Amino acid sequence: MNFERIREKLNILADAAKYDVSCSSSGSKRTNTNKGLGDSSGMGICHSYTEDGRCVSLLKILLTNHCIFDCAYCVTRRSNDIKRAAFKIQEVVDLTINFYRRNYIEGLFLSSGIFKNADYTMERLIAVAKKLRQEENFNGYIHLKSIPGASDELMYEAGLYADRLSVNIEIPTVSGLKLLAPDKKHEDFTKPMLKVKNELIRFKNERKIIKSTPKYAPAGQSTQMIVGATGETDKDIMYSATHFYKNFNMKRVYYSGYVPVADDSRLPSIGSQVPMLRENRLYQTDWLLRFYGFAVNEILNNDHPNLDVDVDPKLSWALRNMQHFPVDVNKADKRMLARIPGLGLKSVQKIVNARKFRKLNWDHLKKIGVALNRAKYFMICDSRNWESRDLDAEKIKGMILQHSAGKFRNQYSTQLSLFN
Ligand code: SF4
Repeated sequence: MNFERIREKLNILADAAKYDVSCSSSGSKRTNTNKGLGDSSGMGICHSYTEDGRCVSLLKILLTNHCIFDCAYCVTRRSNDIKRAAFKIQEVVDLTINFYRRNYIEGLFLSSGIFKNADYTMERLIAVAKKLRQEENFNGYIHLKSIPGASDELMYEAGLYADRLSVNIEIPTVSGLKLLAPDKKHEDFTKPMLKVKNELIRFKNERKIIKSTPKYAPAGQSTQMIVGATGETDKDIMYSATHFYKNFNMKRVYYSGYVPVADDSRLPSIGSQVPMLRENRLYQTDWLLRFYGFAVNEILNNDHPNLDVDVDPKLSWALRNMQHFPVDVNKADKRMLARIPGLGLKSVQKIVNARKFRKLNWDHLKKIGVALNRAKYFMICDSRNWESRDLDAEKIKGMILQHSAGKFRNQYSTQLSLFN
């Protein structure tokens, strides 16, 4: 094996894979000390979560960064003048096994540019997973990116070897996709997703009857959307995400702030900021929709098509809907408790359990871990008056922001004093 060439390919193809945020880069610093293969310092190792919530480190690479398509937002696009490389199937298998044996990784995250056509590329991705499972007896985690436009037969086969499958929708709206990736059709994404969804249901049902039915993509399927490449509002993005959760049984939708990689008048110019805070607000909204019982139109609608930057989406919703407050923590149902800013789901459950035995007061809530500095404006319990009785939403917002800024200042000055 030509180690130098493999190292060069690894540099190119791990770097090209970093734009996929389905698992975030860990920036692992473990280095090779005996001149062998498997230097994981820098890029290439990332973390992801398995079905049971375990955090695993993965080798995250592309099979190739050659691509026949020319998606304007992608660094791998055909017209981009970059160094290209391609791994052979056996090289990816060997890298995975070698890294695994050295304890650098627990699994593989494999994506690819498209060479020749979707099926040809997908076949090669599957061949890597199949070899790992059948020839190397590899039981680690495998996340395969599915190639848009891949056939049903290949999507079926991929799920037999991979733990997770994903097709990245990339651009949240059909019009945005047409503008930036004219080679791709919306159905190229939805068809493989639908096949995976149907197989997940079929295998699950069969397992109920025949226990020995093999598992099909046990960690489910996910997708990723690029945020800020085109002019979509947060409302467009979250409606699109909800559509995918609902109709394709997505386990996760990931949001990736657009990193300007192209000098193209259709896109934000090179050097413009990656919308990290927007990305974070979208994740918070996603969480509220999936676990806190919010509907998209409560948080985002025509009057409010974009998320606030200065406050999180739950606080923002509460400030716009003061008619629902104050909530009585000793009487309200779980759904309403979960809507109080400063109360997480764990605190809600603790409140529900604790109030079976006694009427809760502010000290109890403090012990439970409620963030009272913001929650106090939206709730009442036993004796104390409602903190917001004489305040309007703007004033409450100002006081919460002032408190957060003070907290940040205190933390910052404590940190500084440690160095003085
Ligand atoms: S098909 Fe995928 S890899 Fe190829 S240019 Fe488009 S986004 Fe990039």
